[in-house]
Amino acid sequence: MDIHEYQAKEVLSNFGVATPSGALAYSPEQAAYRARELGGDKWIVKAQVHAGGRGKAGGVKLCNSENEIHEACDEMFGRKLVTHQTGPEGKGIYRVYVESAVPIDREIYLGFVLDRSSQRVMIVASSEGGMEIEEISAERPDSIVRSIVEPAVGLQEFQAREVAFNLGLEARLVQQMVRTLQGCYAAFSDLDATMVEINPLVITGDDRVLALDAKMSFDDNALFRHPQISELRDKSQEDPRESRAADRGLSYVGLDGNIGCIVNGAGLAMATMDTIKLAGGEPANFLDIGGGASPERVAKAFRLVLSDKNVQAVLVNIFAGINRCDWVAEGVVQALRELEIDIPVIVRLAGTNVEEGQKILAQSGLPIIRATTLMEAAERAVGAWQNDLSQNTKVRAV
Ligand code: GDP
Ligand code: MN
Repeated sequence: MDIHEYQAKEVLSNFGVATPSGALAYSPEQAAYRARELGGDKWIVKAQVHAGGRGKAGGVKLCNSENEIHEACDEMFGRKLVTHQTGPEGKGIYRVYVESAVPIDREIYLGFVLDRSSQRVMIVASSEGGMEIEEISAERPDSIVRSIVEPAVGLQEFQAREVAFNLGLEARLVQQMVRTLQGCYAAFSDLDATMVEINPLVITGDDRVLALDAKMSFDDNALFRHPQISELRDKSQEDPRESRAADRGLSYVGLDGNIGCIVNGAGLAMATMDTIKLAGGEPANFLDIGGGASPERVAKAFRLVLSDKNVQAVLVNIFAGINRCDWVAEGVVQALRELEIDIPVIVRLAGTNVEEGQKILAQSGLPIIRATTLMEAAERAVGAWQNDLSQNTKVRAV
């Protein structure tokens, strides 16, 4: 789960990371009011969307008066901000964060990520802040400082000092940098984050180390033990198909194709998507219904897949170990009856209770296309979809 910049700043400041003073606003009037509360005569108005690259896309504006704040807000509120991270559809701006502008001396890149090869949290930092990390690693790879944290002891002071020195910080700034690094690490590990990124972390004209931007993502599987973090979820920033799935406990990722997939297990789901492509089709989604799926759960999965209007055929691929083919078959039959599905549905079942499952499908009297192997299922799905297309474009009631 991703959170907004202002939320990440609040989380990080609770762990001792210094941030500029700022306030959230839901309307232009409120933004101007909050700027007055903050005081000063220069503010930065920042669109709160779950994406980076806002600066270049017009989502970060320097304002010198209340009038300019109004103008900046009028351009932001209710619009979709399209950055290189949002995709062409963009993300809606419903909140802005107003900050007192600070004079910047230097910009540093700071990230905490999970490094798969060492299986540790890794600090990635660079003296070339302001640029995206992808750009830095392409153009100035020599400027990147990496440091792996040993989980048993956490981020040690000497290690944080080493990062600060490797970034070329002056001795008088090192203590603030250590505090920032340790704060970010503590927030990362205490809250089960998967990413903390501060870009830029700045050195101000008056020698303060401040997080000017902040991004945090959290491990969905650990959210249950961080209610104060779950509360920060903003569904307006999510793919509606994916939030609907998350609400139903299904693991779903929307894609651009038109063959809907209902599969158990992430590995099998990936293999199914690959096989559809191999057969000449395009998957519409990744969907893992998990183990022990009841008929109701299968029906829910159908509803979810069919809510994507691009779906023109559905491929169900189940390898039942913990799952039971008869339950899945019942779910398929139930869904087809309830939802009056009139697009081709291809089902491939293997494993526990497969004969019972096949019998349920066969006796249902529904036009379910059955397949034995995954390749056959994918070919039939692609064939059925192409055939369906050539007949007509059907309208579905879901
Ligand atoms: P992003 O483009 O989504 O990563 O948004 P950022 O929060 O990083 O803002 C983009 C850029 O705006 C930063 O890299 C800074 O150069 C600039 N910026 C943001 N806040 C301030 C500020 O308080 N003072 C000054 N001078 N520049 C700022
Ligand atoms: Mn940034």
